Amino acid sequence: MTDPAALDAADPLAAYRDRFLTPPDFDVVSYLDGNSLGRPLVATAALMASFIEKQWAGRLIRGWTDEWMEWPLTLGDRLGSVALGAAADQVVVADSTTVLLYKLARAAVDARPGRRKVLLDTDNFPTDRYVLEGIAAERGLELSWITTDPAAGIEPAQVADAVDEDTALVLFSHVAYRSGWLADVAGINRIAHAAGALTMWDLSHSAGSVPIRLDEWGVDLAVGCTYKYLNGGPGAPAFAYLRADLQGELRQPIQGWMGHRASFEMGPGYEPAKGARALLSGTPPILAMVPLHANLDMLAAAGIEAVREKSLALTTYALSLADEWLVPRGVAVVSPRDPARRGGHVTLRRPGFESLLEPLWDRGVIPDYRRPDGLRIGPAPLSTSFAEVHRGLSVLRDLL
Ligand SMILES: *Cc1c(COP(=O)(O)O)cnc(C)c1O
Repeated sequence: MTDPAALDAADPLAAYRDRFLTPPDFDVVSYLDGNSLGRPLVATAALMASFIEKQWAGRLIRGWTDEWMEWPLTLGDRLGSVALGAAADQVVVADSTTVLLYKLARAAVDARPGRRKVLLDTDNFPTDRYVLEGIAAERGLELSWITTDPAAGIEPAQVADAVDEDTALVLFSHVAYRSGWLADVAGINRIAHAAGALTMWDLSHSAGSVPIRLDEWGVDLAVGCTYKYLNGGPGAPAFAYLRADLQGELRQPIQGWMGHRASFEMGPGYEPAKGARALLSGTPPILAMVPLHANLDMLAAAGIEAVREKSLALTTYALSLADEWLVPRGVAVVSPRDPARRGGHVTLRRPGFESLLEPLWDRGVIPDYRRPDGLRIGPAPLSTSFAEVHRGLSVLRDLL
């Protein structure tokens, strides 16, 4: 087996680990849950303190016209260029993933009147399924379910079988939250578009770990969160993408003053702003956007392609350790082994894993647990060493 120290020594991104904040009493020896909550940067603490003192306390309400009003769009553009493959004025940072999902999906189905179906898969993230269920009830639509293999994910052929001229919208995850399956976004989009449907992708589990080419792949709409691989912090705002040529046509339903053509005219009726700003509703969560500045600087410096390379090396290593240590102890790997179809995490299953969570935490090993019996190993590429993966899985082996 490869020595983890040798892998760390050969890792071109190893130095980035020093950019993460490690408190003096840090009791974690193996953090394997970057796909749920990314770690903070040293720079983030300084940036928050300076924002509070200089911008909030110092500028007060003048901050809005200094730059805060533009943050949802300037940060959106930056995110679009660093991580999403999106040209300017198509991405905003706002709200939560759930709320943006509602706004975009509602806009999409209303833009395809006469089509009565929304296509999604059984293993999509709960919030995606619940939001669509609500929209279907609101608009008299029907949800059309594709049953996906929980150890794999959505396949173009399944979409081809299910989509038709009655489909308004298809919604899938780029990386499946359970298995880590990486979908063929461009291929599925071609199939959906040929039937006249709009396409929407949830990027929560891929943004910041897998390269994304929204413009190139022909994505119509997308949403995602920034607190996983983008290290935005607990409850950090989400992002939404609306393809430029749909911006005049799609109209999101939460018509607030911040999405208005001229917010401060306080006019009698709603007129949407031009471009991506129309996706906004109310006052943006400025304070919660501060950390993103530091994270996007780091991601831009590291480069998403290099991040992906390390991510695959980490999950490949985790799989090799799982095969050697865990599979003989009754653990099943329920994630794609083909790197081309694997996102940033791998999932292990074994009945009774839930009872191991507490002893793992006691030993400073923090994976992610999903019911009924899945442990997700999500090593964030910029903050996780190979030694950390080795350590975490060896503790798991010993507990088994
Ligand atoms: C984490 C995650 C979300 C989270 O949505 P919130 O509104 O931030 O709670 C949504 N979708 C997917 C696929 C996720 O992984």
